[in-house]
Amino acid sequence: MATYTTTNPTTGAIEREFPKLDEAEVQDVLHRSDAAFPGWRSTAVRERAEILTRVADAYADRKEELGRLIATEMGKPLREAIGEAELAGEIYRWYAEHGPDLLEPEALDPQGAEESLVTTEPVGPLVGVMPWNYPYYQVARFAAPNLMAGNTVILKHAEICAASAQVMEEILHAAGVPEDVYINVFAGHEQVATMIADPRVHGVSLTGSERAGVAVAETAGKNLKKAVLELGGSDAFILLEDADVERVARTAAKARLSNAGQACNSPKRMIVLNSQLEDFVATVTSVFSEATIGDPLEKGVRVGPLSSVKARDTVVEQVKRAVEQGATLHTGGEALEGDGAFMRPAVLTGITPEMDAYSEEIFGPVAMVYGVDSEEEAVQLANDVGFGLSGSVWGNDVGRAQAVADRLAVGMAYVNEHGTTLPGLPFGGVKRSGFGRELGRWGVGEFVNTRLRRTA
Ligand code: NDP
Repeated sequence: MATYTTTNPTTGAIEREFPKLDEAEVQDVLHRSDAAFPGWRSTAVRERAEILTRVADAYADRKEELGRLIATEMGKPLREAIGEAELAGEIYRWYAEHGPDLLEPEALDPQGAEESLVTTEPVGPLVGVMPWNYPYYQVARFAAPNLMAGNTVILKHAEICAASAQVMEEILHAAGVPEDVYINVFAGHEQVATMIADPRVHGVSLTGSERAGVAVAETAGKNLKKAVLELGGSDAFILLEDADVERVARTAAKARLSNAGQACNSPKRMIVLNSQLEDFVATVTSVFSEATIGDPLEKGVRVGPLSSVKARDTVVEQVKRAVEQGATLHTGGEALEGDGAFMRPAVLTGITPEMDAYSEEIFGPVAMVYGVDSEEEAVQLANDVGFGLSGSVWGNDVGRAQAVADRLAVGMAYVNEHGTTLPGLPFGGVKRSGFGRELGRWGVGEFVNTRLRRTA
């Protein structure tokens, strides 16, 4: 029987196996999700909000246990893992609090006897395809607004985090989401395609690689289904002339090491003036080389294993190739011996447009630092990649930093911070980073029918 198999990336030990759906079960899931839709959409909005509040409470109450689970499954240091469980809960809470207002019917320009009423209505079953890097947060971004809106959800999580996928389903059901309104599936890629193509499904949201995004969007497009894609990124982190180099370099280094660098919006490309380069690289190199690598459940560990040995080997190979192509390696880059998926964080400089590293996403603890001669060159370099997720600009003159931030071709531009995610703020990118927006009021607007009823 085909299975999802989870492996502890700290030890290499197989943790658990979960049977995949067979073809009859795929049809059963589609039927159940579709049959549950009319009942769910007709529940009172207030009732759905109360259920989401209970979900939020469960995440808050169980954050330690939930944190341990993902630390074991995908290697995130426990403190970060608990923080992620808290954030996921806050997303459910935000939609519970704001959903009722966002879903209120709106009367437009009432004139005389005419009435134009706009309502926000759910569309039906949706498929969510989610990645392992933030197992709880990624699902919450998709499930919370859509359950609030009255859609039903079929959730296909990454094989790596099958156990946390199952726990999320349990939490939602225990809070009052009917069983068929949220269905977790362990499904193969072809089965996901079958579901997207099925007429009962009305849309798909994917967070993951470009490769997966292309596959899912292709099926969605062929079947005229809406897709929201949140793909990779190679975010720029730009220092202006008046920035405090050492302090900001420390912030950049810590941000890059968060989640062992496996975040779509991690500051993968640090761009500094040539006059700042030496000090900046020295600071990032010292933070990276001193970072405690180890078991994510142990206190004080900053860098856990990558999500799998395969993922680790990919990153190690990318660093090696960059060096072969002429880049300079200041520290790290090598795999640690043993069965775990560990590597030493790496700092690279001297990357030029001909090298693969210039345009690839490196999904691991690797800082690429670029030296430029001007602000103009910094902006040009920042925008010279296929991705457009987010970027940040750092400097003491905030107005000047904002003006530079406004020139970044991204979905999210930050000044003196990088990658802050709050439930009420939009999240998403442009170019090859995908399309559509999650979170905030935008997240509830993707899979709904904005419906007009006009009466003469
Ligand atoms: P994937 O994109 O392969 O996995 C993300 C999700 O998509 C998983 O649930 C996966 O399922 C699913 N998936 C993959 N291919 C298909 C398909 N053809 N049809 C349906 N579902 C599919 O990520 P990887 O784990 O392979 O990571 C590779 C790279 O992806 C990373 O190095 C990084 O660049 C990028 N990435 C970006 C993320 C982000 O936050 N934007 C998150 C994770 C990865 P399954 O696990 O069963 O294969």
